[in-house]
Amino acid sequence: TAPTPTLQITPSPHVLDDEQRQARMTGPGFGRVFTDHMVVIPYRDGAWQPGEVKAYGPLALDPATSALHYGQAIFEGFKAFAQPDGSVATFRPEENAARFNRSAARLAMPALPPERFMEAADALITLDRKWVPGAVGESLYLRPLMFASDAYLGVRPSLAYLFVLFASPAGAYFSQGVKPVTVWISEDFVRAAAGGTGEAKCAGNYAASLAAQAQAEQKGCDQVVWLDAARRDTVEEMGGMNLFFVYRDGDHVTLVTPELTGSLLPGVTRRSLLEMARDLGFAAEERKVTVRQWRDDLAAGRLTEVFACGTAAVITPVGKVKANGFELDIHGGENGPVALALRKALLDLQHGAAPDPRGWMHKV
Ligand code: PMP
Repeated sequence: TAPTPTLQITPSPHVLDDEQRQARMTGPGFGRVFTDHMVVIPYRDGAWQPGEVKAYGPLALDPATSALHYGQAIFEGFKAFAQPDGSVATFRPEENAARFNRSAARLAMPALPPERFMEAADALITLDRKWVPGAVGESLYLRPLMFASDAYLGVRPSLAYLFVLFASPAGAYFSQGVKPVTVWISEDFVRAAAGGTGEAKCAGNYAASLAAQAQAEQKGCDQVVWLDAARRDTVEEMGGMNLFFVYRDGDHVTLVTPELTGSLLPGVTRRSLLEMARDLGFAAEERKVTVRQWRDDLAAGRLTEVFACGTAAVITPVGKVKANGFELDIHGGENGPVALALRKALLDLQHGAAPDPRGWMHKV
């Protein structure tokens, strides 16, 4: 039997001092500042090799690196939060490890044992503990990725891969508090079709979204809403977030989110909100939502709020929806109470200010 692979820890000789780190962590925004260390775990000869936690820095790549040509590249995103007792906890990292492996399977890449994913995250967070921000709404964003590292120009699954994990302190996504976004329903571009890679978190999905995002911005919108590829009448998701529709009938609130069709990303936040809904007295349903229903139900007053959810921005209300031929305000363009209540419940849980009945927080 092979020896159990381990994670060697090689502390960086260039760790920033407290003052330098504090300066970097002040108003870090999102995705620009990186911590002192990273994890790398190579895969070769049919097996994951021992990994290393080492100084954060550039990777040297052969120009023939397969991922740069044929796109075998996947990633994940999840967050670590400072807890009131001084510890750090990550939010449902096992879900990200599982989705990582589903993405890997779709791109003909090897699965990383979830315990190695977890070990890598816990080791990096422990070594870079001082980079976990303390304030509510702030967190340390973890970015695992894997790419095909063979230097070979034949089109076939690579025989070698590199798993990399690094971390980035993330400030409150919206500095002025939550502000509703305006969304553009894209009819010209398609994100994913049945049988494609839509439910995988692969690099190519994001490359293919950028022209549509640019079009949305030209139309004065913040984000793209994707429709199904075949009929272009059913709502799938947003750029980097899943969508929820809030229906109200008297005091009865129902959250509706598009069902998983294989072409949209199964968000961890989406799934968590479906499970938390009943704690707040809301019903929750996964079903098909058409653009027609969106318009009609808004006009009829049944649909009272729309919001997007994802790891990065937690919950973001949608204040306005635009498409070819129509433009509608949602909840008067203001934050809605259901979106705000869910946002608070999720943030309280993540920051350890509320009980964790489902054991979603993983203590590092
Ligand atoms: N859809 C897409 C396309 C995304 O990139 C993301 C972010 N991972 C989401 C939805 C939301 O997923 P999660 O809640 O797991 O962050």
